[in-house]
Amino acid sequence: MKSQLLIPAAGMGVRLGCQGPKAMALLAGEPLLVRTLKRFQPVKLVEGAVIVAPPGTIPMFCETLTAYFPGMDFEFSEGGSERQISVGNGLDRIDSATELVLIHDAARPFVDDGSIRACQEAAAAWGAATVAVPCVDTILEADADRSLIKTPDRQALWSCQTPQTFQVSVIREAYAQARASNYVATDDATLVRRTGKKVMIVPGTALNFKVTTPVDLALAELIIEKGWT
Ligand code: C5P
Repeated sequence: MKSQLLIPAAGMGVRLGCQGPKAMALLAGEPLLVRTLKRFQPVKLVEGAVIVAPPGTIPMFCETLTAYFPGMDFEFSEGGSERQISVGNGLDRIDSATELVLIHDAARPFVDDGSIRACQEAAAAWGAATVAVPCVDTILEADADRSLIKTPDRQALWSCQTPQTFQVSVIREAYAQARASNYVATDDATLVRRTGKKVMIVPGTALNFKVTTPVDLALAELIIEKGWT
């Protein structure tokens, strides 16, 4: 199936303490977004990728990506205040011939090509798939007063990652329904599941963590320095 990569990269990295866009924060000397895109070179999905950038930053993103990926074409779109708005804007820029879209956070620079391929195959077969890892922590559900309500059985819990991969018609329908009911989620597979469709989970790796805090950035630098990727 003809696949296209969509990278939401419009976060401002408040939790990382960034001055500018988080995707341009340097990780061992290279912008986070560049390191993340390089993970998609073995599966040949960098060319034609849709990059969603913070409002007003498309020229800067374009200049940076042209420097690191000379001769490659990208589609750019402006993001919004929520990740879901950013991804929705990116979906509007997907090529009309695309059958499968892979949505991957700019902030996950260590995804492996095995997970990417497995997620593509599962979505081609089932319509929707997400990479995730079994939950290692016990998760507590609390009320607004921070009083414990319940502890879901950890055996059934997974920590959501990206890529999340979808047949284009499936994700478009999920976005249309979410917009119509003003429903907001922090990932895209949840929007598809809400439409009643099946979403397959593809086991990923702990290395595919999201760089969110300065501790994550320091850990990411160490991983690169040690060559653990
Ligand atoms: O905010 P969160 O940690 O969920 O961000 C995950 C990904 O979504 C990041 O790559 C970030 O750049 C992107 N994002 C976005 N637009 C937003 C917020 C986050 O594209 N408004």
